[in-house]
This record gives sequence, C-alpha cells and structure tokens, in this order.
Amino acid sequence: MKIICIGRNYTDHITELQNEKPEDPVVFIKPDSAVLPKEQDFYIPEFSNDVHYEVEVLVKIKKVGKHIDEKFANKYYDEIGLGIDFTARDLQSKLKEKGLPWEKAKGFDGSAVIGEWLPKTNFKDINNISFNLSKNDEVVQIGDTSLMLWKIDELISYVSKYFMLKKGDIIFTGTPAGVGRVMPNDYLSGSLEGKELFSLKIK
Ligand code: ZN
Repeated sequence: MKIICIGRNYTDHITELQNEKPEDPVVFIKPDSAVLPKEQDFYIPEFSNDVHYEVEVLVKIKKVGKHIDEKFANKYYDEIGLGIDFTARDLQSKLKEKGLPWEKAKGFDGSAVIGEWLPKTNFKDINNISFNLSKNDEVVQIGDTSLMLWKIDELISYVSKYFMLKKGDIIFTGTPAGVGRVMPNDYLSGSLEGKELFSLKIK
C-alpha cells in the first residue's frame, strides 16, 4: 500500500506558505511505515522543532488502475476519510531551499494519520464536503472540498498517469489554510461533515 499526497491544493494555504500556484498538482509519496497505528499517540520526532498538522480529506482506492480517465475516476473509490499529513516544517524548508526531496520531512514514522472511513454514498456531492481540525477543542483548520484547485476525480486521473493505483492505496488530497505547530500534550481531532473521524494526543 502506498500513500500519495497532494500539495498546494487550496489557494489560501498557498498564500499562507507564500508558494506560487503550480501548473500541475504537487505530488509526493509517504511509505506505508508512515501510517500512525490506530489509537496511538503521535510522538514529535527528535529531528524537528516545528512539526505542523495538515488536515486533509482522504480517498481509498479500491481497484487497480493506470491512466484513469477523469470520467471513470469515481469507479476507483468507495470510501472517503480524513487524516493528518504531519510535516516537519523546519526540515522541509531546509530541503526545499536546497532543491532536495521532501521525504524526510513528510514521510517519517507516524506522519500519516488515517481516520475512520465513510462510504462515499453518504455524501450528496463529494466536491462539497466540509471538514475541520480542532486543537485542544478550538477549531484551527476549516476546509471544504469545493475549494480544491484539483478535485478528487481530477487528482485520481492525474496521479494515475505516473503511479499505478492499487487496491488499498490512499490519496491525501491537500490541506486548507490554518496549518500550525503541535506541542506535547496537544489534543487533535478531525471531523468531516460534523462527524469526528479521528482524535489523537501529541507527546
Ligand atoms: Zn499535506
């Protein structure tokens, strides 16, 4: 199983990080070892002093596909979820400056939080799903899939040109504005359309 992540998919987050709007989606991969086991706390890694949360809508791929046409992309997933793409921002900035790959800052152990899955039939329109992340019971990120630069089906089509999608692969679809640092003892929880799909403690 692989995790394919999309960067810079919401304009407000691009402004926040002073990135340019890309011509194509930014794509990177997290290894399967990045998945934070269920019910486990997140430990801030010793190599970073600035780990950020990024709440993101997730899509679970249900069958093999390659060069998927956008029209047929909806046949490749049945479940929608919510998770966190933990990012060692200090390390990522250093790597970006040098033009080096981000993997160490994005793919470290525990950096992928994957919440409960919901059938996509729960949603009237997957391009109109609201979600949010709370830190210590205060909402810090609010997003809506209607604000994505590249919608879910477009992303599936795009990434499948480069990576064969397989059953069980997960796509992290990018984060809206409001990313920020986590500190020991913080408590995070994420909700999709008002339903809490994950919660975790920071150590
Ligand atoms: Zn992200």
